[in-house]
Amino acid sequence: MRLSTITNWAYGATVALTLVSGATMLLASGAEETERAAVAQRATFDQLTASLEEDVYRLTEQARGYVISGDPSHLIVYRREKQTLKSVEQRIAHLRDGGANEAELAALSQALHWADALTDEQDAAIGAAEKGDDKTARTILFGDEYGRELDRVAAQVGKFQYMLDQRTEHAVIRATDTARQWRSVSEIMLGMTALLFLCVIYFVLKQRILRPVVRLSDVVTRLAAQDFAAIPPEFSQVDEIGDMAQAIRIFRENGLERQRLEQERDADRTMRDLLSRLTQRLQGCDSTSDLVEVVRRFAPEIAPDFPGRLYIHDTRRNAMVQACDWLSPAYSRPEFPPSACWALRRGQTHRPAGDMVDIPCEHLGAASTVSTICIPLAAQGESIGMLYYEEPAAASANRLERTGKYLEMLAENIGLALANLRLRDVLRDMAMADALTGLPNRRQFDIMLQTLVGEADRNATTLACLMVDIDHFKRFNDTYGHDAGDAVLRAVGTVLGDALRENGHAFRLGGEEFVVLMPGFDLDQALGRAAQIQRRIQDLRIDHRGKELGAITASFGLAVFPDHGRADRLLQTADAALLRAKTEGRDRILVATIRDGASAVA
Ligand code: GH3
Ligand code: MG
Ligand code: MG
Repeated sequence: MRLSTITNWAYGATVALTLVSGATMLLASGAEETERAAVAQRATFDQLTASLEEDVYRLTEQARGYVISGDPSHLIVYRREKQTLKSVEQRIAHLRDGGANEAELAALSQALHWADALTDEQDAAIGAAEKGDDKTARTILFGDEYGRELDRVAAQVGKFQYMLDQRTEHAVIRATDTARQWRSVSEIMLGMTALLFLCVIYFVLKQRILRPVVRLSDVVTRLAAQDFAAIPPEFSQVDEIGDMAQAIRIFRENGLERQRLEQERDADRTMRDLLSRLTQRLQGCDSTSDLVEVVRRFAPEIAPDFPGRLYIHDTRRNAMVQACDWLSPAYSRPEFPPSACWALRRGQTHRPAGDMVDIPCEHLGAASTVSTICIPLAAQGESIGMLYYEEPAAASANRLERTGKYLEMLAENIGLALANLRLRDVLRDMAMADALTGLPNRRQFDIMLQTLVGEADRNATTLACLMVDIDHFKRFNDTYGHDAGDAVLRAVGTVLGDALRENGHAFRLGGEEFVVLMPGFDLDQALGRAAQIQRRIQDLRIDHRGKELGAITASFGLAVFPDHGRADRLLQTADAALLRAKTEGRDRILVATIRDGASAVA
């Protein structure tokens, strides 16, 4: 049963009990009225009967006074009083009106008749006295008979009074009992009303106020302690408690929202710290492999549960090649042409996911329904790589959106770092390579020589150094022009580069001088290779603007560590040998002598 129904019933019962107790109070008051009426009636009857008895005795007094004294004043008083006496009928009617019953009236009527008979005897005695017959008069008034009649009247009046007393006594007792009973009922009713009222008040206080307030207070205490798992009870009633519950609900919702925002802000701050750390590490990368390692470590931290791959564009093959992956991605080929990815085609993030209709990329293979994210890594409008992610199925839309934002930032940072590395590589290549022949230049030779000399020293291995100088090169310039000289330099550079592609290093030291380093080559091997190079140069035929430039020859100076002295003097030793080759007639290979090494040292 609903609380309001119970309360309404209790209100109804309280009102009904109040009405009933009011009615019983009225009834009790009515019974008391009856009691008072009975008492008043008895007093009236007492008065009436007392005057009757007095009348009889007063008339007897006056009649006897006249008979004894002959004083006419007695006679006058007697007649006047008799005059005022009411008739028997009048008195009885008066008493009937007063509420006397028939038996009482019969008793009284008898007394009145006997009183009238006495009055007749008094009249007879007075008449005899007036005639002078005092004796008869006295006999009548003082005789035994008169005395008995007088007593009989008194006895009859007494009987009437007794009957009256009995009846009024009963009436009073009855009325008193009734009044007491109604009073008791009224008091019980009043008590019950008060009790019910108190129960209703208690019930209302407990159910409607105390219990809801205690529950609300408990929820408020927990909410104040940031425990938002506390759910405010649903109080739908339209009163202060309902308003309070509603207010607490709103307070909780606001608290939850604030907590969510704080968590988001904290997570965002953590993520930005992570991205900032990633950016610093990326800036410190010296090579692409460094960058790949940084991405492999940071990417799963920035987007946990998002498996992915990093692709870097291989310009020689025009292919996107996987550099690393994390969290075991299930789709996307490790290598594909840029045209197989919509993100690379459009230069924008491609995200065939959620309810949006979109085209899956070709490089995903058969997985056409999976939610993926492809973010191009761009630099100066060119796609230099691509970040690929697979979205977890259970992620919320909010998380996907936030993570998507971080992934874009991550891609931007990786793209920039990759572009910087590439730029640096280009600049370094430019700084290290000879622009004309494409061979490494003097700077790179110095570095390489130091490295190879260190290795040869440490490992006690051989290292051959072959100096190459084109013979009479100046003539090409002078005869055919500077461009022709350049063509000769390019051709000789190509011969050197091709001859040593895998097991040696060729450098252009400057002008028409070249040097070849052959680690691990002993003297014979190095001589063989030098002879090969000499032949290829001799075989060169260069057409420049329709003219053949003629035979090209070069002189060679060869020094081998450890045969010809210290490793760090190898270049000077070879150069001394070259000088000798020039002076001995050019187009020849001369091996350094100990003296060359010694002289170089000296
Ligand atoms: P030798 O046989 O004694 O080595 O005589 P050579 O003429 O080869 O040597 P020399 O040192 O007298 O002349 C070298 C010339 O190479 C001088 C310079 O103008 C020319 N030269 C230096 N660098 C370049 C270049 O990059 N291109 C062209 N075309 N000529 C260059
Ligand atoms: Mg020279
Ligand atoms: Mg020369």
